[in-house]
Amino acid sequence: MITLGIDIGSAATKAIILEDGSRVVGKAKVNMGTGTSGIQKTLDLLLEQNGVTMEDFDCVIATGYGRKWFAQADREMSELSCHAKGVAFSVPGARTVIDIGGQDAKTIRLGPTGRMSSFVMNDKCAAGTGRFLEVMATILETKVDGLGELDAQAQEELQISATCTVFAESEVISLLSRGKSREDIAWAIHESVAKRVSALAKRVGLEDKIVMTGGVAQNPGIVRALEKEIKKKIIVPEDPQMMGALGAAILAGEEVLKKK
Ligand code: ADP
Repeated sequence: MITLGIDIGSAATKAIILEDGSRVVGKAKVNMGTGTSGIQKTLDLLLEQNGVTMEDFDCVIATGYGRKWFAQADREMSELSCHAKGVAFSVPGARTVIDIGGQDAKTIRLGPTGRMSSFVMNDKCAAGTGRFLEVMATILETKVDGLGELDAQAQEELQISATCTVFAESEVISLLSRGKSREDIAWAIHESVAKRVSALAKRVGLEDKIVMTGGVAQNPGIVRALEKEIKKKIIVPEDPQMMGALGAAILAGEEVLKKK
């Protein structure tokens, strides 16, 4: 049995091929999300690398913001269910998932068997999301994957008090004008995202093991700042951005077994 899980996000498309519902045989990611050619590019890459066609899959499940517009899926599932599934598989015993993606942040509580029991979500405001970090990276003349490196070299603690992306942008520009270093500003940016996300996370409660997923989990500066804020250890699985696609592919496997 081979299944495909595809996570069509706001910022990136991620896809995973699973054999027998549990063995990853292929994965692909393109940093272009819903409404872009990133979806087809991800599929082309994945299918070519693995020498398969869409017809070869026993079940295809789509998740993510763009899932409703992906006609080639047998089913669509919410990002919450897919992230919960992917994490429960990758980190046995996980009880809390903090996911920061391109345009939202969510915290999911898992029960003892790995099923989602509750969640909270911020999808109303860009602050505390990957988009916020992308805007800030541009002002600091780096890419979003360069922020963690800057953060690691910070020396002076600075404050960013604005809670709105637009006002925070003005604050960062003002800090730069006053001669503050890009490293210290990157640190302050991470602290401000961590404060917002931890406030959200505390609303559902933070029980160990705590796992972070989504593209932003690849930024060690954010993980460090969040650990400091919640005063707990955070586990980052290998390839945290792929957790939704992985969960979708596992759920597709379960779907096939149900029908047998
Ligand atoms: P979505 O599902 O909404 O598309 P993702 O979970 O794929 O979101 O995360 C996308 C976000 O991850 C981007 O907005 C970007 O801020 C961040 N990101 C992507 N790659 C990296 C990286 N290598 N290092 C740090 N952050 C990253």
